Amino acid sequence: MSSSLQEIIVVGGGIGGTMTANNLVAKLRPEIRRGKVRITLVSNNPWHYYKPAFMYVAFGMFYKNELRRPLFSLLRPEVNLLIDEVEGFEFANSRLRLASAGVRDYDYLVVSTGCVPVPERIPGLREAGDHFYLHAPAMQLYRKLSQLERGRVFIGVTFPTTPNVPHQCGIAPIETTLMLDEYLRRRGVREQVEIVYTYPTVSQLLRNCLFLQKATCEVLPAIFDSKGIIHKRGFTLQRVDAKAKVAYSEEGEAEPFDILMQTPPIRAVDAVLNSGISQAPNNEGWLPTDRASLQLEGHPNVFVMGDTVDLPISKAGGSCHNQSPVVCDNIAGLMRIGQTVAEYDGRVQAVAQMGLEAGMPLWYDYQVDVLPTPPTKIGGLMRKAFNRGGYWAVARGMV
Ligand SMILES: Cc1cc2nc3c(=O)[nH]c(=O)nc-3n(C[C@H](O)[C@H](O)[C@H](O)COP(=O)(O)OP(=O)(O)OC[C@H]3O[C@@H](n4cnc5c(N)ncnc54)[C@H](O)[C@@H]3O)c2cc1C
Repeated sequence: MSSSLQEIIVVGGGIGGTMTANNLVAKLRPEIRRGKVRITLVSNNPWHYYKPAFMYVAFGMFYKNELRRPLFSLLRPEVNLLIDEVEGFEFANSRLRLASAGVRDYDYLVVSTGCVPVPERIPGLREAGDHFYLHAPAMQLYRKLSQLERGRVFIGVTFPTTPNVPHQCGIAPIETTLMLDEYLRRRGVREQVEIVYTYPTVSQLLRNCLFLQKATCEVLPAIFDSKGIIHKRGFTLQRVDAKAKVAYSEEGEAEPFDILMQTPPIRAVDAVLNSGISQAPNNEGWLPTDRASLQLEGHPNVFVMGDTVDLPISKAGGSCHNQSPVVCDNIAGLMRIGQTVAEYDGRVQAVAQMGLEAGMPLWYDYQVDVLPTPPTKIGGLMRKAFNRGGYWAVARGMV
């Protein structure tokens, strides 16, 4: 790359990549004005999705056009947007291979390509299970839930097999269980529907396993009990008999269901998997990321953030929000004084949706676990404000 113009490429137009491209403009404005830096965002989708809203889709509370925006409309004018598929990461050569635009060299790279659900990794799950981690499956779940009159909703959580890597959004299974309870009450069918919430025996990361952490353990079971939600630990989904509608666990149990609401296995996207850099077991593809600087190990000009990291931290937009300033400061530090200057402390914050109306602010970092507070209607209003407005300000790099 020429020394006169520094090329920074951000890959991924989800929450991590969008806010980081915008934050880089704010950070590097003097260099951009002098024509010394160019910032390009590459994404394979012209739309930006507010993914947490897929939860609400499952309960008929959000329409598709309310939870997405054209990606270009969220970007500062200084960001060059390129809609293209990254087919290959050549980290050793500081180069990307793009489906349409060919080869692109970079001086600095930010990878924020997220993760994808892979229910097909558990036999029978794709055929018989439901989830809300993408829009289409969330709509399918809504169609079933809106017609459910009686029966058994069996809820389970699958963790990645990579040690210390959690499933996407630590609290989503709990949030949706509480939303389900209230949704069925509103429909007047709750008495005829049994809700069973289960958690696997091994969950890799006790700190993010909200149902296993000591403080949350003391609060959540009582909340579930008060609503008649059955809960038990020690159910690790192994396979599903789609015809008989029975879920089998590694622990040897068999559980019948009318609806199986299962947090599916996840993995990194194909281009990241195929980069060959990840050592994660089970072909999960998480990139080895320095927990403080967020640099890709062995490649100091590459930064990783969001769901693609192998860090012991929730795969959440609330993580991206705290990682983005670190990435921007460190790229600016490397460019201006030749060294990184900021460290990520593992901070994540969110307002959990506790039922259809209440909310619970929560935050934690590498050192301090979640400290649960009572769910309140004020918390619910905070969450609603974030869902309908605050999120877009965050994506634009304004908050
Ligand atoms: C149902 C649900 C509920 C959630 N609830 C919460 C919550 O309450 N709070 C919270 O903080 N987080 C929540 N999350 C998690 C949050 O949405 C993710 O952690 C966050 O979106 C991760 O950001 P990211 O930038 O890493 O990836 P994403 O937002 O997934 O973005 C990845 C981007 O990369 C692009 N891309 C992928 N591959 C390529 C390629 N090869 N070439 C070019 N572009 C590519 C994609 O098109 C996409 O634009 C929830 C997620 C779900 C699904």
